[in-house]
Amino acid sequence: MDYRELVSRHIKKYPAASVFENEPMSSHTSLKIGGRAAAFFEPSSVGELADLLAELEKSGLRYIILGRGSNVLFADGELSLAVVSSCGLNEITAEGDIISAGAGAPLSKIAAAALANSLTGFETLAGIPGTLGGAVFMNAGAYGGEIKDVCESVTVYENGEIREYGAKDCAFSYRHSVFEDKNAVIISARLKLSAGDAGEIKEKMRELGERRRDKQPLEYPSAGSTFKRPQGDFAARLIEAAGLKGRTNGGAQVSEKHAGFLINRGGASFEDFAGLMETVRKEVYDYSGIMLEPEVRIVK
Ligand SMILES: Cc1cc2nc3c(=O)[nH]c(=O)nc-3n(C[C@H](O)[C@H](O)[C@H](O)COP(=O)(O)OP(=O)(O)OC[C@H]3O[C@@H](n4cnc5c(N)ncnc54)[C@H](O)[C@@H]3O)c2cc1C
Repeated sequence: MDYRELVSRHIKKYPAASVFENEPMSSHTSLKIGGRAAAFFEPSSVGELADLLAELEKSGLRYIILGRGSNVLFADGELSLAVVSSCGLNEITAEGDIISAGAGAPLSKIAAAALANSLTGFETLAGIPGTLGGAVFMNAGAYGGEIKDVCESVTVYENGEIREYGAKDCAFSYRHSVFEDKNAVIISARLKLSAGDAGEIKEKMRELGERRRDKQPLEYPSAGSTFKRPQGDFAARLIEAAGLKGRTNGGAQVSEKHAGFLINRGGASFEDFAGLMETVRKEVYDYSGIMLEPEVRIVK
């Protein structure tokens, strides 16, 4: 089976499905970089997703799961792969101190639901521009909070079955979860928050949002921090100390505002961005002996 056949089989089964061929990944990523994926699917139910994943596994065709694309750098040109977006699975429900949400629910909307229900514990995650699935996948975090602090359980599709992982089985650590090492697709998660004061929750979200706007180059496309924090140091500090702030490569640049962010100044290609990442890694290593590890996921 090829991608075209996969698409037509899927549309036969799900005539209203959201499916595109040769879809530009620059339209689905915060970096605004990336070539055309052979097939792009956005299932709107768990049944449709599970069916599609089963077909993909049977066919042996290459695929990746995409949330809001805020941590992915795609190569340019024709990409021989199927991209399965989680964004159609975005329902959010609150019951007592538990919020349950689909993998495609944006963290900002979960934060809004937490605030509407006077639930505290999600404020530090409110400004991360990804989905719940993407956040669980890499244990996203900010301002001293991580998804692991509130995640109670995760439902995934794995090897043809839908199963649940308790928080302990997720093996969360700094920007890592067990799902990075498995062929598992996150479908939804349950988050345990606590009763709080709506005024205080709102104020904390406002204050952290302001800190982001002050410190981060949000006016340019980026994938947030390009590199993980090395043990005992900060990527931005090392990059700045190595004299790389403002360094450009074609349309890619080490942000002048926050050296931890590599940005797309306009029209950056994959080669521009990936090349700048390599330069930064090499020069930081020459300067400090520390090899930075990319946080952004590269898909070629
Ligand atoms: C301006 C800006 C600020 C940011 N600030 C932060 C921050 O403070 N803290 C932080 O941690 N990150 C930050 N990020 C990075 C990014 O938002 C997070 O990594 C986020 O968790 C990615 O979610 P996503 O839905 O966009 O995932 P994507 O970028 O779409 O995917 C990232 C990875 O997760 C996998 N994935 C996504 N969904 C699923 C799923 N359902 N099942 C299995 N695998 C899946 C993908 O295959 C991919 O490998 C920032 C990014 C930007 C652009």
